Amino acid sequence: MKYVFITLAILAFASVVSADRLVRLYDVSPGSVTEMIEEGYDVANIDMRNGYVDIMLPERQLDQAALLSYDYEILPREWGELLPENSKGAGYYYDPDENWAFWCSLAENYSDLSDTPVSMGQSYEGRDIYFIEMTSPVSGYKPPIYFTSLIHAREPGGNSVLIDFAMWLTSNYDGGDTRAAYILDNSTVYFVPVANPDGYVYNMPNGGNQRKNMNFTLGDGVDLNRNWGYMWGYDDSGSSPNPGDETYRGTSAFSEPETQVQREFLIDLEPIAAMNYHTYGGMLLYPWGYEDILAPDNDLFVGWAEAMTAVNDYAYGTAWQILYNVNGENNDWAYSATDVPRMYAMTPEVDDAGFWGSQNDTTEIERICNECRPMNIIFCMANLGFVGISGESEVGIEPMLTLNSIYPNPAISSASFRITSSASSNVSATIYDTSGRIVASFETGDIAGGTSNLFWDVPQEIPAGVYTARISDAAGNCDSMRFTVMR
Ligand SMILES: [Zn+2]
Repeated sequence: MKYVFITLAILAFASVVSADRLVRLYDVSPGSVTEMIEEGYDVANIDMRNGYVDIMLPERQLDQAALLSYDYEILPREWGELLPENSKGAGYYYDPDENWAFWCSLAENYSDLSDTPVSMGQSYEGRDIYFIEMTSPVSGYKPPIYFTSLIHAREPGGNSVLIDFAMWLTSNYDGGDTRAAYILDNSTVYFVPVANPDGYVYNMPNGGNQRKNMNFTLGDGVDLNRNWGYMWGYDDSGSSPNPGDETYRGTSAFSEPETQVQREFLIDLEPIAAMNYHTYGGMLLYPWGYEDILAPDNDLFVGWAEAMTAVNDYAYGTAWQILYNVNGENNDWAYSATDVPRMYAMTPEVDDAGFWGSQNDTTEIERICNECRPMNIIFCMANLGFVGISGESEVGIEPMLTLNSIYPNPAISSASFRITSSASSNVSATIYDTSGRIVASFETGDIAGGTSNLFWDVPQEIPAGVYTARISDAAGNCDSMRFTVMR
């Protein structure tokens, strides 16, 4: 009896310590969302399509919600925290030990496809950040594609999606689905399932709600997805200089071991593309995040996003178009080509029920995996040049120069580049391999405005593989597209 009482007392204390609740605020203007972010509120999800914002509030301060919006709803407890009474680790999510066991058993069961986990370096508290390499025995140059989850430690839904995709690839390679075979025969897929292991372990077994890492030198951790080295600390929008804020960016770019370790690994690996999984909200984000500008490859991203979200109807766009500006974020660095060749990096925000809402509901976890699997497949296929890409900018900015298509794709001995230019100009084209090296370049001479075709004889010395064609004119307009060369 005494034992029971003490246990209850500890549980009660634990729940007081971690008692945060997600609150949904309706009828909030974009301006007041910006204010909330600037004031340091923990903004968990913005859904402008449906007109609400979710914020995390300590249970003691729930009355603040009424000050922010007259129309609000306190969301179920399990959306915001791993329930203390849920005794099974992370519930139906994979806790840290279950993750490790899963990836080890995958390597055992599919030893020809999946390697055992390997450490790429250590976290702040000295835990291994491990990766898993997956590819088929088919030889040849196989560009790396990189998947991560749990850089924010309270977002386990993304981890479930990675586990599901790894299972799908391995179990369908042999005869189940030709797309799995195509992906593993033509690329090497890397998984980093627990990018912030200290935070995730801290959140176990019950109650914790840590988003940042566990470097408490100045506050209560650093937001690892604001600590990357491109436009780090550009401004204070969505990235905070205050150590107590959930978006605290750290003392300098790459100040944290977790981002340093990934940076070094990526410099060695040079992936062509990355999917960095977060939750929650049902969105697909791509660069740029730091400023209200479109990436040179915006049409490409839009085209991919359109195809990738056809099944799940996720909202897509840059962070500033559908969420809020962020700097020091992972995608911007990967795409910036600052330390590595340009990587086509995207961030899905899985449509989970809050951060932990599916902890006791395996059918909900199946749902999010089912709706993200097609997104992963299309992303890999698109990056491997398998899928023809076409897309138009949605935001009303008329591109001055567009590379509409490359035909045939895959190209064998020659290719036709269909381009549209708003004025007559001298257009030059450069062909890059997946490491960013130039393998060919040529000029058109003056072309008239409008649509025209550039013909290119593929030099014999160019090996089969995936390439990026980039066209540009003297005024600095440019556009690019991936394509494949076959031999
Ligand atoms: Zn996140």
